[in-house]
Amino acid sequence: MQITALSGGVGGARFLRGLLRALDTHRASPTDDEVTVTVIGNTGDDITLFGLRVCPDLDSVLYTLGGGVDEDQGWGRDGDTRAVMEELAALGVQPQWFGLGDRDLGTHVARSLWLGQGATLSEVTARLAARWGLPEQGVRLLPVTDAPIETHVVVDDGDGDGERAVHFQEWWVRLGAAVEARRFTVAGLQSAVPAPGVLEAIRAADVVLLPPSNPVVSIGIVLGVPGVRDALRGTRAPVVGVSPLIGGRPVRGHADACLAPLGVEVSAAGVAGLYADFLDGWLVDEADVGAAYPSSTTVRGLDLLMRDVDGAARIARAALDLGLELAGDRP
Ligand code: GDP
Ligand code: CA
Repeated sequence: MQITALSGGVGGARFLRGLLRALDTHRASPTDDEVTVTVIGNTGDDITLFGLRVCPDLDSVLYTLGGGVDEDQGWGRDGDTRAVMEELAALGVQPQWFGLGDRDLGTHVARSLWLGQGATLSEVTARLAARWGLPEQGVRLLPVTDAPIETHVVVDDGDGDGERAVHFQEWWVRLGAAVEARRFTVAGLQSAVPAPGVLEAIRAADVVLLPPSNPVVSIGIVLGVPGVRDALRGTRAPVVGVSPLIGGRPVRGHADACLAPLGVEVSAAGVAGLYADFLDGWLVDEADVGAAYPSSTTVRGLDLLMRDVDGAARIARAALDLGLELAGDRP
């Protein structure tokens, strides 16, 4: 069985860790054929800091699936220290608002070195995935594109008569998404092509899963890479998503501030509407079952809070089961 998932950072990574746990339990039967999971990761959050290329969402997936994530944050390395950042601060080097731990910096140094030697982001990501044991878990992590793309947020310039664009990370981390976004633009997106294997993974999938990742700046960016959305519309596999919103609110982060400039209702139904052209199944929280969803989408309600790995596994199992059920209904 081939499962293909689109993913952002923390929400995606925690769901995927649950999926692997669920598959482990499931695979206990020796008659099951091999299951592979291809993860298509968002790269719109990527940023160059101190001359280093940082890919926050890919790294959250790597560290979480590899057992090296800082559990409380959901990003960065466990047990990390901040000696390099402290030294940079003493030197007056900016910016200071993006926290990078010492071990985490090792990843960024290696990535930047390999990119500088001519490796593609896909190749670099495969090397990092090997370090974190993803292939042994049947997981292939692909950046959605090898082209450097960057999400920017257009905000009021403060004079009341103009606007300026800031990098997504500056808006999200430094400004806490508290400054109203007028719109999002993604530098490099128009000319970006999907990384090797991305479209194939969608076309060859038995089930496509959308974890509860941010619908605008995580999943939305992946969908924006030319060809990806069309592949999802065209795949024979059912596409099943999990709502990142419960009771009209994001579980964590600022998805509400991302949906507002799109004029989309901040709800599980609003998010489903963004995917309506390809979404076959949609898991919502029990609190949200009563809402109006796209007519072509099968909606199921369950407790959608990923309290721990077992909780995430329960949700992932439900998503996979709905996908297999919908696949069974197809000719
Ligand atoms: P990011 O790139 O680190 O922001 O992570 P993602 O884009 O992958 O996921 C962020 C989304 O995950 C947010 O909109 C959260 O609401 C959602 N999320 C986080 N934890 C949970 C959870 O336990 N349940 C559900 N349903 N969504 C969650
Ligand atoms: Ca992210």
